[in-house]
Amino acid sequence: MPDLELKFYSYLSPKKGYSWETPPAKIPESDIAETVKTEVLILGGGISGLAAGARCVDMGLKVVCLDKNEKLKALAGQIAAVNSRVMAKQGIVIDKKQLAADWLKMSGSRVQEDLLWLFINRSAEGFHWMLDLAGEDNLDVSVYQAYQGPMFSEYPGTHHIFKKKECTKYTAFGGGVLACEIFQTELLDKGGILLRGTTALYLEKNDAGRVTGCIAKCADGKYRRYEGSRAVVIATGDPSEDEEMMEAFCPIGLRAPSKFPRPGNTGDGQKMLYWAGAALDNPEWAPTIHALGGCGFQGFFLHVNRLGNRFMNEDTWMQAKSIRVLMQPGGDFAFSILDSKYLDEMEERYSELGGQGMMPLGSVGGSFNRERMINSMNRYIEQGNAFKADTLEELAEKIEVPAENLMKTVKRYNEIVASGDDVDFGKRARLLTSIEKGPFYALKWGPQLLDVFGGAQITTDLEVLGPDCRVIPGLYATGNTAGGMYAVDYPLLLNGNSYGRALAYAMQLGDVLVRPE
Ligand SMILES: Cc1cc2nc3c(=O)[nH]c(=O)nc-3n(C[C@H](O)[C@H](O)[C@H](O)COP(=O)(O)OP(=O)(O)OC[C@H]3O[C@@H](n4cnc5c(N)ncnc54)[C@H](O)[C@@H]3O)c2cc1C
Repeated sequence: MPDLELKFYSYLSPKKGYSWETPPAKIPESDIAETVKTEVLILGGGISGLAAGARCVDMGLKVVCLDKNEKLKALAGQIAAVNSRVMAKQGIVIDKKQLAADWLKMSGSRVQEDLLWLFINRSAEGFHWMLDLAGEDNLDVSVYQAYQGPMFSEYPGTHHIFKKKECTKYTAFGGGVLACEIFQTELLDKGGILLRGTTALYLEKNDAGRVTGCIAKCADGKYRRYEGSRAVVIATGDPSEDEEMMEAFCPIGLRAPSKFPRPGNTGDGQKMLYWAGAALDNPEWAPTIHALGGCGFQGFFLHVNRLGNRFMNEDTWMQAKSIRVLMQPGGDFAFSILDSKYLDEMEERYSELGGQGMMPLGSVGGSFNRERMINSMNRYIEQGNAFKADTLEELAEKIEVPAENLMKTVKRYNEIVASGDDVDFGKRARLLTSIEKGPFYALKWGPQLLDVFGGAQITTDLEVLGPDCRVIPGLYATGNTAGGMYAVDYPLLLNGNSYGRALAYAMQLGDVLVRPE
């Protein structure tokens, strides 16, 4: 790097007084039981850490991976790969340039484009490597049918993997757990070491400023020093379980009334990186807030807020729905209003109901199944997440919204439906369905925080950068602890992109770490 004085647009001190801004006290040398040496030390054994570890052992490197949870916790059903061989067989091609353009638009342009292209260009390679590791005979692989609508369209690069019945190599049924198991198996088979119940506390540097490893608290309660002579890779996930970090980087995430529990995701990596002098993404980081609260299904039906007023074009993706609800009075939940013909309406529009989180009443994929829908509705009613009434007044009372508002909203909505032109919110005519005849139903749903995307500024070689735009030697970041690729909002336009990124970055890391320094 030329001798220029440069600075990042990133989260820098001045300190705001958050407790995490202060590094912890050093563990006294006398308390450190031993030093464990390896070539590549990986902190975090979720999808990103495991994929990176598996790739490194495949490239002939010695790997130790530490994870603070006792057991693997993988949360995902979908894996994105841009233009995989599975897609090619079906004649599906993604226009990469258009995907990049849409991603940037969705992220308010606050993205390092080279990192985005790293994902776009290497996710399929990573996905193929995973299929090859598993042996394609062991897996059923399919591509998810992407949703196409005027307000929101998905790219058709989302894959599902399932273990075949006859496969004995793995135990996981499918999805993210299976992907993690594939990489974990590879890591261990090739001599890598995976230590669970082991929490990395802080990073260490040598006198030359190179990150050499970390101090960790181990499952036996002892402190140990772990050293990675070639690389220390941070893959500790996101900070969604740390309220102070959320306040600093993603305050909107704190507004979600419910949160998907992610034990372990307390932003340890971001903190360790910050203490080691890394430049972090500037706030606000992109949250995944899906409309999974309550019954978790909204459909295209009329949506009303807690005042009984319509507030949005209902034909959009569930992340957008969540954010809209957060902006409503109360901000915690909303209702979809259906009448007695809702099953026919859904059946007629089944293909238009798709899309992440828009699948009807508890069913993902497959064909329309009336009985399953009825069962789901009954279950939601039992759980208090759906309500049924013979009249709209009675329904308003049950869901505790002002009856006169609900009546007025429904009257206006029916006028819009009759005219076929939604001049109030612009929903396409095909999804305008009237509310006429009881029994009437209200589905209750609301925003739920899943995770948050933001971390250290990195190069396309995954090297961590300081606020002066210089590489911190020895230090790498991947997965949700790496920054630069997401901003503003989680881009559901290609579902499974977090897992897809983990695979793409693993490919890159392997190549980088076998190159001479
Ligand atoms: C309900 C739900 C559904 C989702 N579905 C999908 C999906 O279908 N597709 C998709 O792509 N994404 C999905 N996601 C998002 C996805 O789960 C995450 O983005 C992804 O797991 C990030 O991977 P990661 O390896 O970076 O972090 P994580 O998976 O969070 O792994 C980080 C690991 O680091 C460990 N760790 C943390 N701190 C320390 C420490 N100090 N020392 C040692 N170890 C530490 C943690 O224990 C954890 O195992 C979903 C999320 C949720 C909540």
